[in-house]
Amino acid sequence: MVLADLGSRVAVALRKMAQAPLVDKDVLNEMLTEICKALLQADVNVAQVKHLRESIKKNVDVESLASGMNKRKMLEQAVCNELCSMLDPGKEPYAPKKKQANVIMFVGLQGAGKTTTCTKYAYMHKRKGFKCALVCADTFRAGAFDQLKQNATKAKIPFYGSYTETDPAQIAAEGTAKFREEGYEIIIVDTSGRHMQEAALFEEMQQVSDAVAPDEVIFVMDSSIGQAAHEQASAFKKKVAVGSVIITKLDGHAKGGGALSAVAATGAPITHIGTGEHVEDFEDFEVKSFVSRMLGKGNIAGLAPEMMKRLTQGNWTLRDMREQFQAVLKMGPLSNIMNQFPGMGGLDFHESGARIKKHHPLEVVELLDQFKLMATTMQKTIKKNKKMGKAGQDLHNMDAATVAQMMHKMNPQMLQHLGGQAGLEQMMAEM
Ligand code: GDP
Repeated sequence: MVLADLGSRVAVALRKMAQAPLVDKDVLNEMLTEICKALLQADVNVAQVKHLRESIKKNVDVESLASGMNKRKMLEQAVCNELCSMLDPGKEPYAPKKKQANVIMFVGLQGAGKTTTCTKYAYMHKRKGFKCALVCADTFRAGAFDQLKQNATKAKIPFYGSYTETDPAQIAAEGTAKFREEGYEIIIVDTSGRHMQEAALFEEMQQVSDAVAPDEVIFVMDSSIGQAAHEQASAFKKKVAVGSVIITKLDGHAKGGGALSAVAATGAPITHIGTGEHVEDFEDFEVKSFVSRMLGKGNIAGLAPEMMKRLTQGNWTLRDMREQFQAVLKMGPLSNIMNQFPGMGGLDFHESGARIKKHHPLEVVELLDQFKLMATTMQKTIKKNKKMGKAGQDLHNMDAATVAQMMHKMNPQMLQHLGGQAGLEQMMAEM
C-alpha cells in the first residue's frame, strides 16, 4: 500500500528525533520538514500540511520543556494527534442495527468501485452476523446486473435485479420491499454511476432515494482522484443526503493521503476503505487505529478496555479469544503484522495465518490448549507491565508485544521462521 510509504517515512522522522542526543528547535524543525515532505508527496493539501506543522510547533514548545524522554514522547504524541485530527471529521457515522431493516444506498461516479464495494460491504456485515441482501438499481450500464449477480453469487449473498425493467426506482422499490418482508437486516441498493454535472442522472438518483427511503447513503470514491475528492464529496453531499464515504483503491495510489484528508475536511465520516479487488480487501476505517498502523505501531489487535478488565480479573473467555483472533485477522496477513517488528520483514508467515483462519473440529483440543496458553501469556505480560509501572501506558504499544508473543507461543512452527527462541527474545528486547 502506497500509504505505508507515507507511514514509514513519518515513523523514520519520529525515530530520528527520538534518537537525537538533545531535542531542540533544530531537531524539531528537521523532523517536521521530513513529515511535511512525506505528506505533500502523498498529495495532502498544502494548507492542511501547514496547519499540522504550526499546530505541533504551537503545542510543544521544546525549548521550555525539561529534557529527557517526555519531550520525545510528547512530540510523538503531538504528531499522532495532528495526523488523527486531520483525518477525523468528528462525526459519528451511521451504524446498522440488528433485528431491523437497514436500507443502504450506494452512490458515486462510474468506475469508483461501487458494485464491488456493495458486495464487500455485504460480505463484511454478513461475517459480523447481519442478514444481508443486494439490490441492483443500475439500469444505465449494460452488464451492471450481471456484475452484481456474479459478485453476489460468489459471496453467497441473495440479490435482486431485472434484465427488462428500465426504471431504477421501480426495481429498487421492489427489491427492498421483498427483502424487508423476508427479514433482511442490511439491504444494499447499488445505483448507476454518475457525475456531478449530469443533472438528469442526479434527478434519477433522487427518485431511487425517494422510492427506497434509505437509512443511509454511502458515497463511494476512488482514492486516485486525490485532493479532487473534496470537490466531488461536497457536490454529492449537496444533492443527496450522503451520510458517509467509502474510499476505494487505497492499495495502489500515491494520492491516498490526499483523498482521505480531503474527504475528512468535508465533514463526512469515512467508514471503510477498499484495499484491493477481492471481496475481503475491505477494512473498517477508524482514524486512530489507521494512523497507528500507518506509523507501524502494532496496535490494532488492541484489547478493548472491557476485555482488558476481564483479563486482569482472570475472566478471559473463549469468546474474548475469538474476538482477539478476529482483530488479528483483520490486520491482514500475519506477514504484514510481523513486518512491523524490527528485523522481521520479508519472512513467510503465510502458513501461520492460515492456521488461525481454519480451525476444524479436530483442532478443537489444540485450540483449547492455545486458549489456556494465551490467557496465561497475556496475564503474565500485563503483570510484568504493571510491575514496570507501565500500567497506564498506551495499550496499543503494549499489544504489539502481546500479539507477537501470543502468536509465537500458539504456533511452534513460527519458531522456525523466527530463527529460534533467541531470535524472538532479541526481537522482544528491541521493541
Ligand atoms: P462501479 O462502476 O463504481 O460500480 O465500479 P466497479 O465496482 O465496477 O469497479 C471498477 C473497477 O475497480 C473494477 O475493476 C474493480 O475490480 C476495481 N476496484 C474496486 N475497488 C477496488 C479496490 O479497492 N482496489 C482495487 N485495486 N481495485 C478496485
